[in-house]
Amino acid sequence: MSVKENIERVRASIAEAASKAGRNPGDVRLVAVSKFHPASAVLEAVAAGQTLFGENRVQEAAAKFDEVRAGGVDADLHIIGSLQRNKVKEAVRVASCIESLDRIELADEMEKQCAKIGKTVDALLEVHTGEESKSGFRSEDEVRGMLSAFASGRYPHVVPRGFMTMAPNTDDEGLVRASFSCLRLLRDRMASEFPSLSLEELSMGMSGDYGIAIEEGATIVRIGTAIFGERDYSK
Ligand SMILES: *Cc1c(COP(=O)(O)O)cnc(C)c1O
Repeated sequence: MSVKENIERVRASIAEAASKAGRNPGDVRLVAVSKFHPASAVLEAVAAGQTLFGENRVQEAAAKFDEVRAGGVDADLHIIGSLQRNKVKEAVRVASCIESLDRIELADEMEKQCAKIGKTVDALLEVHTGEESKSGFRSEDEVRGMLSAFASGRYPHVVPRGFMTMAPNTDDEGLVRASFSCLRLLRDRMASEFPSLSLEELSMGMSGDYGIAIEEGATIVRIGTAIFGERDYSK
């Protein structure tokens, strides 16, 4: 199957899952995760109407999307992988949103680097909701501390938009669903505790579990394999 056919199939099943859940299909955005795939694959997706991409390694993302954009293509990029402080400068240059904000020091560095280049980026707070994932804020108090810093105006160049999580990699649908609903409930509590922030985004769901994520309220799904095929990690 071609990238184009895959995108059409994924879009149709996103729409179907949304409708089934009584939601508007337009309320779920698709991030096409192009990590480990070349710029040519990104361009195939662009030709199929896809404009939003996700990458988890900053250097790979920068090289690939500089190439894509040099060709005049206007592709939007989210960074979705855990981010080291020394990669933040390049990350905020190349992306419009960092979905993997998982500690205060990272927000401090994002603010510093964004201020330098006069750019504002969006951020999602990554939350650890399932036993198997390693990254993300671990407790509600840590999340609250991060959001308090945002609400106090400490980060004029970083705009929090909501939350991101990865469900455990398991066939147990109950565990996956629990992870997603945990994120939604956290979002609901934080949105009411911090009315000055707009925290509507829930980035959750990957190739294997996006149907469940949409039922649980995902506004962003991050899909790689179902669009671009298996990744070759030996490269
Ligand atoms: C790789 C990755 C995805 C996409 O995973 P697939 O199973 O290939 O759809 C989604 N989110 C994150 C954070 C990733 O690292």
